[in-house]
Parts: sequence; C-alpha cells; structure tokens
Amino acid sequence: MPTKNKIYLSSPHLGKNEQNYVSEAFATNWIAPLGPNITAFEDDIKTYLGSKNEVAVLSSGTAAIHLALDLIGVRKGDEVICQSFTFSASANPILYLGATPIFVDSEKETWNMSPELLEFAIKDRIKKGKKPKAIIAVHLYGMPYKADEIHAIASQYEIPIIEDSAEALGSMYKNQACGILSDFGIFSFNGNKIITTSAGGALITKTKNLKEKAVFLATQARDDAPHYQHSQIGYNYRMSNVLAGIGRGQMEVLNQRVLARRANYEFYKEGLAAFDNIEFLEEPTGFYSNRWLTCIKTDRYETRETLRLALLDDNIEARPLWKPLHKQPLFKDCLSFTNGTSEELFEKGLCLPSGSNLTKTDLNRILEILIPSLK
Ligand SMILES: *Cc1c(COP(=O)(O)O)cnc(C)c1O
Repeated sequence: MPTKNKIYLSSPHLGKNEQNYVSEAFATNWIAPLGPNITAFEDDIKTYLGSKNEVAVLSSGTAAIHLALDLIGVRKGDEVICQSFTFSASANPILYLGATPIFVDSEKETWNMSPELLEFAIKDRIKKGKKPKAIIAVHLYGMPYKADEIHAIASQYEIPIIEDSAEALGSMYKNQACGILSDFGIFSFNGNKIITTSAGGALITKTKNLKEKAVFLATQARDDAPHYQHSQIGYNYRMSNVLAGIGRGQMEVLNQRVLARRANYEFYKEGLAAFDNIEFLEEPTGFYSNRWLTCIKTDRYETRETLRLALLDDNIEARPLWKPLHKQPLFKDCLSFTNGTSEELFEKGLCLPSGSNLTKTDLNRILEILIPSLK
C-alpha cells in the first residue's frame, strides 16, 4: 500500500503576491540587505500592529531577541529572567551575551509565565544582590501571557520586558496586538510560523532612536566615516530585500491565516468534545490567540504517546509540547523557579497539525486517527 501523503505540523502557506515582490527585487537588482521591500515590509507590519512603534526586520527572531538584550545593556555576568516553558531560542541569546538565564515556570490558565513566581524570583535575586537586567516573557503557541500582571511586576521593580511574540503575530491582548505591549517585541518569520519569509524576524521598539540603534548594530555597527571604522561589536542581522518581498506578500494574507488556524482549533475541539481525557487551552476573557498550534493536554503520558504514535503511523506529524528549558541539558546549571506546570505539560501535552493550508480531508483524516486512540 502506498504511504499516505504526509501531513505536517505547520508548513509554509504562500499567497498570490509573494513571487511578484521577489521578482521586483530581481528586476531592480535590489538583492541586498536593504531596499524597497524592506521598507515596505516594515511599514506593513507597523500598520498591522496599529501602533506608533517602530519595526526593524532582521535575519531571524533569535537575532531580534539578541539585539533587544544588547540594547537593554545586558552584559557578561548579568542575570536575565526567561519563561521556562518555551523554545530554546528564547533563552540562547542570553548566553550569547555571556549573561545567565534564570527560569520561571508557567501558570495553568495560559501556560505562560506565572506572575507569582516571577515576583518571587525577582525578590530572591534582589536579596542576593543580583537584580535581573531584563525579563523575557513568551506568548507561547500564540496565547498571550498575563500581560497586566507581568508588566505591573516588571514596572514595580523597573525591569524592562522583552515580549517574545515569535509565535503570536496576529494574537491580541485586550484589543492590543501582541508584540507592542511592552518595551521590546520580537516576531519570527521562520518557515513553521504563522507567516514566513523562509527565515526572518522583526524587532519592535518604542522609539525611532532605538530602531536606528538596532539597525546600526544589525549592520556591523559601522561608525560614521568614509572608511570602515568600528567602536563596538556589530552583527550581520539585517533581513535581505529578497526575503522581505516574501514578507510583503504574506502580510496580505495574515488575517486569513489567523482565521484558518483558529478554525483548526475549533474543528479539533468540536470533533473531540466527547472525550474527557483531553483538555484544550481556552482563551481567558480579553485574550485572543492566533492559535498558531492547537495543543491538547491529555490525562497522562501514555495517552499522549498513544495519540502521537498513531498519528505518526499514518504519516501525520504531531509533537510533544516544548520541553521546559530548566529541564534541558544545556541549561542544567541554571537557577529556576518552578511549580510543576511546564513539566506536567511536557509530559502530557501534544501539538496537533495546525497549518493554515490543511484541507477538510486532512483534518478529517487526523480526527479519524485520534478518536479510536482516545476510546
Ligand atoms: C521560533 C521562535 C523563536 C526564534 O525565531 P527564529 O526566527 O526561528 O530565530 C523564538 N522564540 C520562540 C518562542 C519561537 O517559537
């Protein structure tokens, strides 16, 4: 029997115009990390976010976190608080700067950073004479974190926030776009995200001055001189004008992509409503998730594995939820403030295929595998 076509967790989904913008870059010879697609893509994002914030498009979301930490002034020996339940790219840039991550666990309502544990961690570090230099909070899987609570604590202790919105373009918190809620926001346009430039990211800043500093650092930190002169460490982090062309096309379909992903979530929720051994992550009032990935929490590890392996057997990709960073070998020596939430999610949770390009046939095929495995 021929193997069935593979269903991916989250694959790129192009619209109509990406190639036109890319062709324009070729036709005008703007094959560089500057050009009209970059400016236009930045303007499109700015308009979408509906804010006065500034946008710098970059080579990746990871690069955006790195630059945000650098702009905040994080240096060797500093401590930075980071949500533990996330992808390693949230925390790796802390290490790039020679600083130390301190991990904070999640609460159960949004699966994101627990405000109580955050405050506990800050107090603990201050008592030890190590006031954290920054906080990286994550809107994981597109679900906004409890921004009012987290930001109130951050502002009480005067610690800047980096909002990791890599997975949350199109999500809203109390009618404001995720990515503009705090001091710095970051987005990712990697191939698996809600929209993609194949690889890419963006940094959102509050002022034009900060954006200019970010672009300066992202283009090798060249001083103003006719020759190449450098007074500080620079990076090669600017986005290519070719890839920004893909981004312009993707921005035109972003709203449709959000609706399609939200429809996937509703489809699974309805289709699996009869089973009490799985739970979905509901939106609290005022929270609007782009539902980048539909995630379920099962009653136990064995159920999760039964589902995952049954899907795999049918050539369908599904993945356990993120392994908390405080359990990763890379970060084993880092201090963490935990409450068991992320460890439980990692043990029992599963991400279901969630692409905006899934067909009704695909979705039904997935459901037909899940239902008998849950009985
Ligand atoms: C994808 C992702 C990043 C990194 O973005 P890249 O563009 O892949 O570098 C950072 N944080 C989270 C939560 C992500 O999912």
